Amino acid sequence: SDVGSQKERVVTEEEWLQKWEMGNIGFHKEQGHPLLQKYLDVLLNGRSGLRIFFPLCGKAVEMKWLADMGHSVVGVEVSEQAVKEFFSEHSLPYCEEPVPEISGAKMFQSTSGNISLYCCSIYDLSSSIVGKFDGVWDRGALVAVNPRDRQRYASLMINLVEKNSSYLLVTVSYDPNKHKGPPFYVPESEIKSLFG
Ligand code: SAH
Repeated sequence: SDVGSQKERVVTEEEWLQKWEMGNIGFHKEQGHPLLQKYLDVLLNGRSGLRIFFPLCGKAVEMKWLADMGHSVVGVEVSEQAVKEFFSEHSLPYCEEPVPEISGAKMFQSTSGNISLYCCSIYDLSSSIVGKFDGVWDRGALVAVNPRDRQRYASLMINLVEKNSSYLLVTVSYDPNKHKGPPFYVPESEIKSLFG
């Protein structure tokens, strides 16, 4: 397939913030994603009390699901509005604190302590700041990353996971000449070369 038409496309952080302000968030699924339900066993693999990472998390309701199952959830999202909407829409009390290692970043944590959302760019994170994860739910994340940043994104994600982790990745398949993205079309061959 010809993905050349999307290769150069860049969506800035400012544009993402605007989407949230304007309510252009067609990607948000109020009922959660059916594929997480379908593949939950693959993610958990019989384990409990996992640390699960949500890259580019938006206000994904699946974060609440997994926290309610007893897992510890960490997300990262540039839009503070999205993060605040997540907590308010689930009536979860939270506190807010600066992240000493990242200038300008804030961490929003549920009072119960099991959901921590970093408000900054994912590229500001490292395992020394957030630790390593047993599971990843990547939906609307790799496919939302600018095509030129994919390699950097994948290398970071590989760094953020433990050896025995599970990574659920949702992609979309369509003709990239007919839609400019995001979500971008990431061919399976590219996913294989990014993640090995
Ligand atoms: N995963 C979520 C949101 C998908 S849309 C879901 O399934 O609903 C992609 C999200 O990534 C947007 O909310 C956008 O604000 C955020 N985003 C874009 N670039 C980012 C970056 N570099 N770091 C962190 N978040 C980012």
